[in-house]
Amino acid sequence: MKHFATPASDPWPELGGIERQALRELLIHGPKSRSGIARQLGMSRASLTRVTRTLMEHGFVAEGDVELSGTKGRPSELLHVRPDARSFLGVKLTGENLFAVVTGLTASVRSSRSEPLRSKSIEDVVAQIGETYEQFTTEYPDITAAGVCLAGDVVVKSGTQVVVESAFLGWREVALADLVHERLGVPVTIENDVSCLTAAEHWFGVGAGFDSMALITVGAGIGIGLVVDGNPVHGAQGRAGRLDHIQIDPQGPRCGFGHRGCVSMYLTDWAIISAMRTPGLRYEDVLRLARDGDPLAERVFVDAAYALGALVATIANTIDPEKVVITGEGIAVTEIAHEEMETAIAHHRNPPGAPVTLDIQPFEHVEWARAGAVLAIRSCLRF
Ligand SMILES: [Zn+2]
Repeated sequence: MKHFATPASDPWPELGGIERQALRELLIHGPKSRSGIARQLGMSRASLTRVTRTLMEHGFVAEGDVELSGTKGRPSELLHVRPDARSFLGVKLTGENLFAVVTGLTASVRSSRSEPLRSKSIEDVVAQIGETYEQFTTEYPDITAAGVCLAGDVVVKSGTQVVVESAFLGWREVALADLVHERLGVPVTIENDVSCLTAAEHWFGVGAGFDSMALITVGAGIGIGLVVDGNPVHGAQGRAGRLDHIQIDPQGPRCGFGHRGCVSMYLTDWAIISAMRTPGLRYEDVLRLARDGDPLAERVFVDAAYALGALVATIANTIDPEKVVITGEGIAVTEIAHEEMETAIAHHRNPPGAPVTLDIQPFEHVEWARAGAVLAIRSCLRF
């Protein structure tokens, strides 16, 4: 199934498929010589010259530094993407808030804002995205496209992107991309927030240029995003990476789905709070208790870290990624019980103890909104 619907209007009709591929190559891998791009895309230098001329004429790329290449030491100009070429709107919706940024073509954030959602009604949320867009356009009138990410399943139905379900917003079967597009007037793409963040890290973040990576978000829920052979994995229904209910302990407590001792029963904020068996505690309270050496709170985080380690090892065993990125509001578990996480990874790896490259990233809401802008850029490039 196609993951992105083809927008009714192409913001860049001047670019063909090859031009978009060359631009993507420069975005992900940074400045390159013409012969470098030609080699990467398997095309002749002559064709590539035509492609780069088009990209330069329309202001997407420019010539910059010169590198000495080859044994003859012949100088060649490096092409780079112009960061000021076009602007993009990125939006992240949670159950309570709207986070938004404007970025340039290289995904550097130019402006950001956040505000509480007025309500969870679809009409209100679409209107609020529209007002945010209008506020940004006074300073950035060249916003080319928008990307919106949210916790929920997004699939293409009858050529349009639909939020099948978003528990945090209480939505079912919402044709959000079309609704926001009607309000803004520019092409709009929507995506599950974890897939969106994974793709952004793969293009412009800690996984830039990697052929394979996994991203795990820890917090109210557990999200998993995968990149295999250089491409994000969406699966047949947009649901790849659902590993948050694998079993850790066959004697453990039952989750809402009836599994015994699954990852979600140890690692989510809710699980961490519940395991304390003290009414009125918040996640921050348990965190403080653990840091202060409270034995029960420490135990709870040790169990959470063990579950996270088992999850990391399972993903590593499945796709053999170059890197596993861990982020999210619940990232403190990796610091409080780092050793237990490492123990669980080593124990569950096949072969046991096989190394995993971990990258623990501090959590920032603006990163998710930026991922929305990267989604807009990807959709313009048809990736
Ligand atoms: Zn479960």
